[in-house]
Amino acid sequence: MKQSPPKIIALDGPAASGKSTVGSRVADALDYLFFDTGVMYRAVTWMALVRKIDIHDENAVTTLTEDTPIDVRSTSQVDGRACDVLVENEDITWQIRRPEVDANVSVVSAYPGVRAALTVQQRRIGKRGKVVMVGRDIGTVVLPEADLKIYLDASAEKRARRRYDEIIARGEKADYAEILQKVIQRDHIDTTRDIAPLKPAEDAIILNSDQLNEDQVFEKIMALCA
Ligand code: C5P
Repeated sequence: MKQSPPKIIALDGPAASGKSTVGSRVADALDYLFFDTGVMYRAVTWMALVRKIDIHDENAVTTLTEDTPIDVRSTSQVDGRACDVLVENEDITWQIRRPEVDANVSVVSAYPGVRAALTVQQRRIGKRGKVVMVGRDIGTVVLPEADLKIYLDASAEKRARRRYDEIIARGEKADYAEILQKVIQRDHIDTTRDIAPLKPAEDAIILNSDQLNEDQVFEKIMALCA
């Protein structure tokens, strides 16, 4: 008898492991909602930078998170985005990818009050099911009841190389050594924070993509969904 695909798919892993790209393909193939939770931490970080709130002022950043609803919707434009991210009706989908957000987001996401506020919103959406939810703590904290948990891993060098290639492909300048250093720095903050650190859930399936291309990772995940 053919089993139905898992209703909730949790896809966790470190920065630049390819979770979002493959997660959105899997969601498309299953006709599920794709929800990249990292965009919420990025949106708070971007708002704090725009409003000139000190990133190290935990209370101020937490209040900002509690007072600012973040809207994550399905794509309204075909420009490479996996979802629309809006705050107060302003589309900040591309602003949240800027280097200054990359550099500050791990500080923001380590604040317990920020995590509490965003986790509530993520759970509400995830529990409806038919969702591929991507992040760091989906299988461990946000949706431990997920029926399929995948931890997508790759070496820091491989992830930095992929990020570098993406930037060069966009015609922009990039420095591999600098990108590698930032990847390692974000990994360190994400894995050592007190609340919801990045780690595989005990029942997660660990996929290492060092030797796999995007299509192969996609096929492996689809096989797990069959
Ligand atoms: O996945 P992405 O790199 O866009 O996530 C940005 C940052 O948001 C991560 O470095 C991490 O600090 C944080 N994050 C998190 N928990 C999640 C998703 C993202 O702490 N579920």
